[in-house]
Amino acid sequence: TRAGLQRHAVIAGGGIGGLSAGLALSLLGWQVTVCERAKALEEVGAGLQISPNGVKLLERLGVMPALEPLLFEPEAIEMRLGESGRQIMYLPMKGAALARWGARYIQVHRADLVEVLAQALLARQGDALRLGCDVIGYAHREDGATARLADGGEIDADLVVGADGIHSAIREQMLGPEKPAFTGNVAWRALVPVEALGGLAPPPTGCIWAGPGKHAVTTRVRGGSLVNFVGIVEQDSWHEEGWSLPGRAEDALADFGGWSPVVTAILEKATRHNRWALFARQPMARWSDGPVLLLGDAAHPMLPSLAQGAVQALEDGAMLVHLLKQGVALPDLGAAYYVKRIRRASRVQKASRDNLRLFHKRGALQQGLNYGPIWLGSRIAPSLGHRRMDWLYGAEV
Ligand code: FAD
Repeated sequence: TRAGLQRHAVIAGGGIGGLSAGLALSLLGWQVTVCERAKALEEVGAGLQISPNGVKLLERLGVMPALEPLLFEPEAIEMRLGESGRQIMYLPMKGAALARWGARYIQVHRADLVEVLAQALLARQGDALRLGCDVIGYAHREDGATARLADGGEIDADLVVGADGIHSAIREQMLGPEKPAFTGNVAWRALVPVEALGGLAPPPTGCIWAGPGKHAVTTRVRGGSLVNFVGIVEQDSWHEEGWSLPGRAEDALADFGGWSPVVTAILEKATRHNRWALFARQPMARWSDGPVLLLGDAAHPMLPSLAQGAVQALEDGAMLVHLLKQGVALPDLGAAYYVKRIRRASRVQKASRDNLRLFHKRGALQQGLNYGPIWLGSRIAPSLGHRRMDWLYGAEV
């Protein structure tokens, strides 16, 4: 039952942003209703890398013990040339991340993190998650807001949060109908058991394989038992929207033809080759409309090339709760939250775009000019590489 003073948040979207914000608000004593459009929390998505700034927030949410058997802690983040496999950069993470930034760097399957967050939320409030619940918009009330559902239903709340992803319905009502722009990049993804790869298993790191106009990232998930592959290819012709659209193995292999056998073996052994088109938006002028707020990809969708989409969504929810704990009143929350988050989220969006450009350098000269100093720096001053990540991994919400 809803106690007289207990506040209530309706959250559109049960992805990592919506579930983590829901759990954080529940820990603060709020009643929470997370409306997820999907009828079941399915095995969607693939590997996510969670950097120390995100792991600290998962610790705060109390979900690390449940996540422990499912995560993988990579030895390092490294960069290699896609064709030759030659190492350009090696940044130790295991041990080093905890020592420098106060938390580990981990890799996890998106579905595993979603499940752990959902179970933690349900353990606190058994009716907090409504599946098959499609939020189509919102309305203001004198004392809060109302989430409007596709089935005609309405849910009144003190706060409505749009954590409904890059194609957010809440964002559209708040800021207008223009669609996110296709970035000219398409991503392949595949999962393969490590043992299926034998001697060709990729290193136990977060490994970026770079080449002209494309790059791949190999990680490990589900306790290290599965190799996760994401391959990002510049391409103009295909950009259907959707997450789990099946692609053809021969097309994936053609995109990475001539690359290291460590890369191509994954594509050969994989039984499914999903692909999805990558969309983005410019930073937005606001993320709130009274007691209605945007969070995660709905507020700041980004390319995956800095591995921060999920982590920045975690930071959003943590910031909301931080401001509420500081006593910021609900009518002021949206503006305060935007001021605290917009600069950092925009910087991460930009750094993700810059990384993509760096990974995709064309021509030996351009590659030499860009990869050469990274290679040299990584050998003569390895701590510089760590220092360059301080702004991102060392930040506290
Ligand atoms: P999302 O993860 O997009 O979650 C939004 C949620 O809202 C989804 O569950 C969606 O079903 C639900 N939803 C959408 N509209 C409505 C609505 N109107 N009403 C109710 N619910 C709604 N990133 C990677 O780096 N690698 C991946 O493999 C990867 N796979 C992904 C797979 C899927 C299916 C999705 C949705 C996202 C994936 N991402 C992936 C992106 C990454 O997870 C996000 O950057 C990050 O998790 C931010 O999460 P979010 O909660 O803001 O948004």
